[in-house]
Amino acid sequence: RSKPITLLNAFISGKQKMNSQLETVVHWFRCDLRVQDNSALSNALKHLETARKANKGADLVALFVINEDDWRAHLESGWKLKFILNAVANLRKSLALMNVPLVVKIFNHKERKLSNTNEFADWFKSVCLSLSKNSSTLVTTNAQYEYDEIDRDLRISKRVDEKFSFQIYHDQCVVEPGTLTTGKGSQYTVFTPWYKKWVQYLDTHKKSNDIIDVKTVSKDAKVNKELKAFDSDDYGLPKEFTSYLQDTKLDVPPANEEDALKLLEEFIESGKIGNYNDKKDILSLDNTSHLSVYITNGLISTRTVVNRCFHANDDSLMHKDIKQNNSMETFIKEVAWRDFYRHVMCNWPYLSMELAFKFETMDIRWENDEEKYRKWCLGETGLPIVDAIMRKLLHTGYINNRSRMIVASFLTKNLLVDWRWGERWFRKHLLDADLSSNSGGWGFCSSTGVDAQPFFRIFNMKLQSEKYDPKAKFIKNWIPELRDVANPHLLHESGSHVNIKGYPKPIVDLKESRDKALELYREAI
Ligand code: FAD
Repeated sequence: RSKPITLLNAFISGKQKMNSQLETVVHWFRCDLRVQDNSALSNALKHLETARKANKGADLVALFVINEDDWRAHLESGWKLKFILNAVANLRKSLALMNVPLVVKIFNHKERKLSNTNEFADWFKSVCLSLSKNSSTLVTTNAQYEYDEIDRDLRISKRVDEKFSFQIYHDQCVVEPGTLTTGKGSQYTVFTPWYKKWVQYLDTHKKSNDIIDVKTVSKDAKVNKELKAFDSDDYGLPKEFTSYLQDTKLDVPPANEEDALKLLEEFIESGKIGNYNDKKDILSLDNTSHLSVYITNGLISTRTVVNRCFHANDDSLMHKDIKQNNSMETFIKEVAWRDFYRHVMCNWPYLSMELAFKFETMDIRWENDEEKYRKWCLGETGLPIVDAIMRKLLHTGYINNRSRMIVASFLTKNLLVDWRWGERWFRKHLLDADLSSNSGGWGFCSSTGVDAQPFFRIFNMKLQSEKYDPKAKFIKNWIPELRDVANPHLLHESGSHVNIKGYPKPIVDLKESRDKALELYREAI
């Protein structure tokens, strides 16, 4: 059977030509909550321009769909939910400058007794036709690469008729999935050779950002009065969501595309990018870009991030500059990891279904002790470096890559808990929660994924703590109980624990659990 991405690519390449009879273009915003450098949106505008030449009344409407079931899954933490709602509100303001109304529709499985994606496709088509008053309508959107999302889009694509056309564009990656293949034409499973090709590809296909001119869009716009009625701060969210958002005092970063660009500029201009190599892992310094929440939700594209880095290098050839500036190369390489995990997921769709890339690791006999897992979640394991990181995650919705690797290694290789439990906790609590980067990261750390660490490489918590939090500043900041302890690193050593008021003893012996992990992995692999 053809892979979903193959079917999607076939659909994308066979898309319809410009249709001058169009009366309405609907752009469906999903993980692309921005106006600038947005592939599908800029194509929507090109269609609009063509249609307007023939038909002055042609219009653009923006649509955002809230799928209640998906959103309910985020309720436990609410970080991502609140950020997205703020981002949609700000997007609405940017679109208003273009005279484009943004309509928010809520899809509710239970109320409608809908259970499958065919019914979503029917509902979606009827929503789009109602927005356009049944006129000739084109819907544009940017591709999402998770299995369910591709499946949903392919079902919608089957509803195309003379009134309703649907176009999908690649936008989420710097290099489109399926572009970089091995000599045999298959997807790479190892990052390094894939990355070489990625760099070569960018070198020969330098892309400039497709910047949208806001003023030209508003020209001739005929804003539909009925649609304006949707333009209120109340999205018609069920009470459950609104009261949750009101009750929780979550402090989320400002959610608009200008802030994302500003953050990128500051990261480059302030010289943080130059120190990236040396300081990105130091837990108390926060020397990474913090762009992930903006990238995940599409408030900035990774094309823009990479292009801006090259411009900062005087626009000269990427290869040469990257070699001269190790820190910038390391940063760009991290952005490339995101592309890599997406390319991989498109090729092996089961990766978006909580299955391991290395199938044999599905046989690992995890201990899955629920009480230990609970303590890991809440930062009560008695291992200071782990607890400090997990408490920061709970309180801020963000931890850096080093932190993620430390706690993922600890959960799987010391607590012997299935990586999927950790992946789910991250998905609920990370502001930047993203299926492919998250499952890719968990696969890497638990040695079950693509291009994973060898299973016998198990982080030593004391060494990680000493190396990445040398003065224990980070630990003391997040664990007040340890503020007066002279050397909290020592608490990671088996048998060296002393009684500290209010702070638990370690829930696991690091050496014993490490040996047990090796045994369990050897048994399965
Ligand atoms: P920077 O260090 O400034 O990097 C710049 C950008 O590059 C990031 O914003 C991100 O888009 C990308 N990036 C950096 N490192 C990676 C990486 N290892 N893999 C993929 N992309 C990367 N990232 C997410 O966006 N969402 C997740 O849900 C997620 N879950 C993770 C789970 C685990 C177990 C691990 C080990 C990593 C995970 N990552 C995830 C990747 C990475 O940790 C974060 O992207 C990064 O820490 C975000 O901080 P930053 O924006 O300051 O990153």
